[in-house]
Amino acid sequence: MNRFRIELIAAMPNPQQVIWAAMHQDYSEDLVWDGRDGFPSEEKAGELVIKHLLKGDRGHYGPLEHPQIVVNVGYFPHSMMQQVRTHRVGVSFDVQSNRYTGSRICDVINGKRELEDVFYLRPVGKYTNRQGKKYEYTLEQREQDLAWCLEACKRYDQHLENGMSEEQARSIIPFDVRQHFVLSCNVRSLMHLLDLRWKKDAQLEAQKFSELLYKQFEAWAPEIAQWYLTSRAKKAKLSP
Ligand SMILES: Cc1cc2nc3c(=O)[nH]c(=O)nc-3n(C[C@H](O)[C@H](O)[C@H](O)COP(=O)(O)OP(=O)(O)OC[C@H]3O[C@@H](n4cnc5c(N)ncnc54)[C@H](O)[C@@H]3O)c2cc1C
Repeated sequence: MNRFRIELIAAMPNPQQVIWAAMHQDYSEDLVWDGRDGFPSEEKAGELVIKHLLKGDRGHYGPLEHPQIVVNVGYFPHSMMQQVRTHRVGVSFDVQSNRYTGSRICDVINGKRELEDVFYLRPVGKYTNRQGKKYEYTLEQREQDLAWCLEACKRYDQHLENGMSEEQARSIIPFDVRQHFVLSCNVRSLMHLLDLRWKKDAQLEAQKFSELLYKQFEAWAPEIAQWYLTSRAKKAKLSP
C-alpha cells in the first residue's frame, strides 16, 4: 500500500473565498465583484462558509461546486479505480487505458520494472470476508500469487511478440493491475466521494485512496476540510 500516491496537478487558488463569494451573491443586492477588495481572508471565508452553509446540514451546497481540483492518482489497483469511477456527477477521469498502454507489463519480463510496481496484491495479514469470516493471507499464498502475475506477464509479452493488439492481449492481465489516472472534482463532489469511499464497509484500498485525497483537500481548503473531518468523515452520511 505504500506505493499508493495522489499528487496535485492543479487547484483553483482561494477556494474558500470563491465559495464565500458565490454564497454572498445569493443574498447581496450588489455585484459581489465590486466589493472584491473587502472579501474576507481565505481562512475567514472558510469559517463563514461553515457557519452559513455547512453547519446544521442546511442542504445548500451549490456554492461548493465552483472550485476545482485536479489530482494524479497513482499505483492503485484496477478494482479501486473501477469503484471510484462509478461517481458520475462533478467528477472527471482520464485513466491509463491498457489499450494504448501495455509496455509496463512487458517491462517486468525484461527487468525494467518490478512486478509489484505493476500489479497489486494485498499485504500478508488477517482479513475478513463479506460474511464476516476471518481468514489469513499467508506469505506462501502471496508468493504463489506473485508467480501467477509473472506468468501472466510472460504470456502477455508473448502475445504482443506474436503481433496481437494490446486491446486483445489485455484480457489475460490479472484483475488488479495498477492503473494510474487523473481525477478532477469540485469541493462538493470531493466530499461526496469521501462520504461513500471512506466508509468502513468500502474496499480497503478505496479507504486508502480517501485518506490520500483528504490530505489534498486539507492542504487546499483547510477550514472546510477540517469541518468535513469532524462532522462527516467516515460517518456514512450521504450526498452533501
Ligand atoms: C460500499 C459500496 C458498494 C458498492 N457496490 C456496488 C456494486 O456491487 N455494484 C455496482 O454496480 N455499484 C456498486 N456501488 C456503486 C453505487 O451503487 C453508486 O453507483 C456509486 O457509489 C456512485 O455514487 P452516486 O450514486 O452517489 O453517484 P455520483 O455520480 O457520485 O452522484 C452524486 C449524487 O448525484 C445524484 N445522482 C447521480 N446520478 C443520478 C441519477 N442518475 N439519478 C438520480 N440522482 C443521481 C445522487 O444524489 C448521487 O448521490 C457501490 C458503492 C459503495 C459505496
